[in-house]
Parts: sequence; structure tokens; C-alpha cells
Amino acid sequence: MICRKCKKRKAVINIKAYRLPLCDECYPGWFIERTKKVIKEFSLLKKEDRILTAVSGGKDSLSLWHTLCKIGYNADGLYIHLGIEGYSERSLEKCRIASEKLNRRLIVYNLKEKTGKSIPEIKDLRSKCSTCGLAKRYIMNRTALEEGYNVVATGHNLDDECASLLSTALRWDLGYFGRQDINLPEMKGFVRKVKPFAFFSEKEVLTFALLQRIDYLDEECPYAEGATSILYKEVLNIIENRSPGTKIRFYREFLLKKKEFEKFRELEELRECSICGQLTTREICAFCKTFGKLENRSY
Ligand code: SF4
Ligand code: ZN
Repeated sequence: MICRKCKKRKAVINIKAYRLPLCDECYPGWFIERTKKVIKEFSLLKKEDRILTAVSGGKDSLSLWHTLCKIGYNADGLYIHLGIEGYSERSLEKCRIASEKLNRRLIVYNLKEKTGKSIPEIKDLRSKCSTCGLAKRYIMNRTALEEGYNVVATGHNLDDECASLLSTALRWDLGYFGRQDINLPEMKGFVRKVKPFAFFSEKEVLTFALLQRIDYLDEECPYAEGATSILYKEVLNIIENRSPGTKIRFYREFLLKKKEFEKFRELEELRECSICGQLTTREICAFCKTFGKLENRSY
């Protein structure tokens, strides 16, 4: 197949949703332009923003950091060290390499050092992944507020977003639909959260990372195995292969209809957590409850 853009070179990827075959030279430029369009269409970022990019060492977040810097945004990185033997060190190393290459600051938050507990030590409370997700959301927001960033950017791709929508739909958790967005606006105590890669499939991001020679960790977190999100991604890919463009339509239509779900959100009044001061609906926020309880101490 020949590249649609230059009409000369052999295509390395065929973006079926757009019926667009592109070669190794044309693809990275298309990818960056497409990111700019999504940023503009959903008003994700402004030139003057101070962006904190959540980086895990994987292809999605490091490609995002790379792309934001290439476009000219003021984007630093935040790595959350979860204390997972071997894996955390190897992924941190990839983030350090990216930080040096991009010449941008990398903030490292070490969960064990800060709270006394690492993710592997979380046993009986909630499952590791939901505790990890809770910790990451809290740390991203808190670090951004403390370090003067006004927006957090994450590398969620189309497959992540669709798997999450499918999971929510299977539970009919209408209130949760109201909280999912490509652009979660700033609220008192919470910085804006954006997902500039939400319209790229995992394969598209992977192709970009490989062509740009981004040094990422090609290794899943050991706790990812068996996660239901992997099953949902497989199911969605079967549908996508039979009917290209399904995932993009599923996600785009959701964003268009999102407002209708907002009425299902239970808007409870927020107050300051009595331990850490972050805004929460309870006396003690979920992060402090989980990590404080385990450590039996406050900050
Ligand atoms: Fe955290 Fe690993 Fe679970 Fe991802 S798979 S949420 S990094 S514990
Ligand atoms: Zn708290």
C-alpha cells in the first residue's frame, strides 16, 4: 500500500477509521497535527498553561510528553513511584531519559517514602489497581496544586477511554458517565485534567513511539494481568476490525451526549479533608483513609 500523503513511499500504517495509509516519514507529522486539532476542538490547552504530564515510562505517556514539548507547550513530567519491585525502577529510568532528552523537569513522587506504604503492600483493603488509581489521581492533583501547574495531562488513548465507557455501561453507572471527559474543567481545589491522545488508538500511539524512537518501557505492570479492561479492549478490537471507526464513533457520540448524564451525578458538598486539607465529600479523604489507616499516622 502506498502512502496517501506523499504518494511515493510504502505505508507503514493504515488508519482504517480514516482510510488513510501513511509512510514512516508522513505519519509522525500527521500524528502531531491530529493532536493539535483535538486540543483545539476540545479547548484542552492554552499556550500559557503550565502543564504537568503524568508519565509512567510507557509508550502513551512518554509519547504525549514528547508531542506536547514538540508543539511548544510548557510541559513538565510527574512520575509516581509505586514501589513495585524492578518494574518501578525500570519505568522511572525511562522517564529520566525522556526528561533529559526533552530538557524538562521530572518530579518524582515516591509513594513509600511519602506515605510509608507501596502498592504491593496494599493487601486487604480494595484491590491494588483501584487503590493505585485513587492514589494516582490524588497525587497528580495535589502535586499540580503545590508546584504551580494549572493542568494535568494524561496519556489515555482511545482504547483506554472506550474500555472505560464499556465498563461503565455494563454497570449502568450513569453518574460515572457524568464524570468521564476528555477535558475535566478546573474546580475549586482541582486542576483541569485533559487527555490529548483520547482519539488515537493504542496502535497509532505505538507506531508514533516507534517511529520517533521514543525510549519507553515495553513491559506491563505485573498487576495489569487479568484486569477486566484488557478483556474489554479485546472485545472492542473484534468489533473495530469488523466495522472500522466504531471506537471513534462510540467515544465521540459519548462526548456529544455527555451533558445528559450530568444530572445523574450526585453533587455532594465538598469540604477540606481533616488530615491533608484536599477537598473531599467526607471528613477524611479516600487517600488519607487508605494510606493513613495502613500507616496509622497522619501527615
Ligand atoms: Fe497501578 Fe499497576 Fe494496577 Fe496500573 S496495573 S493501576 S499501575 S497497580
Ligand atoms: Zn486527605
